[in-house]
Amino acid sequence: MITIAIDGPSAAGKSTVAKGVARELGFVYIDTGAMYRSVTLYALRNNVDCRNDEEVVKLLKDINIVLSVDGKVLLNGDDVTYEIRTQKVVDNVSFIAANKGVRLFLVEQQRNMAKDISIVMDGRDIGTYVLPNADVKIFQVASVKERAKRRYLENISKGMECTLEAVEKDIERRDYIDSHREFAPLCKAKDAVEVDTSTLTIEESIDAIVKIIKSKVGIINE
Ligand code: C5P
Repeated sequence: MITIAIDGPSAAGKSTVAKGVARELGFVYIDTGAMYRSVTLYALRNNVDCRNDEEVVKLLKDINIVLSVDGKVLLNGDDVTYEIRTQKVVDNVSFIAANKGVRLFLVEQQRNMAKDISIVMDGRDIGTYVLPNADVKIFQVASVKERAKRRYLENISKGMECTLEAVEKDIERRDYIDSHREFAPLCKAKDAVEVDTSTLTIEESIDAIVKIIKSKVGIINE
C-alpha cells in the first residue's frame, strides 16, 4: 500500500496531473478540493453565509460526500460533479476551507480513504497535515501567469464567461487566503519534492512525477 500526496496552489493543474499519475500507477485518485467545494455548495444551497463558521459547522452532520471510482462527486446522493466548479462555489470555497470544524470533518474522511488502498491524494495540506507519513510528497507549482492562462482557457472551453485578468486576480486571492489561514495552511512539506510545471505539458508533468515516485518507492506495477 503506497500513499502519494500532491499539494500546491490553485489552478496549477494538480487534479489533471494527479489523476494521470494515479492512472499510470493503477492507484485510486482522491480529489480533496472536491470535498471542500461540496461543503461550500451545500452551505450555498441552504442560504448559509460561508463566512459564518458556526452556522456552517451545524450543517456538517447532514452532509455526506462520496467520490465515486468513475470520478463523480455525490453530495447526499446528488451528482454535483459540475456544479461544484461554478463561480459561486469558487468565490466562497476559501472561506469554507479556512473553517477548522470543516477541515477536521473532512480530514478524518480523507485519512480513512487512504487507509487500505494505494492512493494519489491532491490538495493543499495533504503532505503537511492529512498524510504526514505519505510515501512520496510532491509540491506542484506553476507561475501565476501560467496558471491563470490555463484556467482561463479551461473556462472558455466549458463555455464559461470570464476574462484573463479576473481569473488571475481570483487565483492570487485564493493563494493568499489558502496560505495565510491559521489552521493547516497551504505550504510545502519539508520532505516534499517541488515540481514546477510552468513549462511542461500535462503529459510531461505526469511523467516527471511518476519518475520521482518510482525513484523513491521502487518500480511499481512492472
Ligand atoms: O483543488 P481545488 O481548487 O478544487 O480546491 C478548492 C479549494 O478548496 C481551494 O481553493 C482551497 O481553498 C480548498 N482546499 C483546501 N485543502 C485541500 C483541498 C482544497 O483548503 N486539501
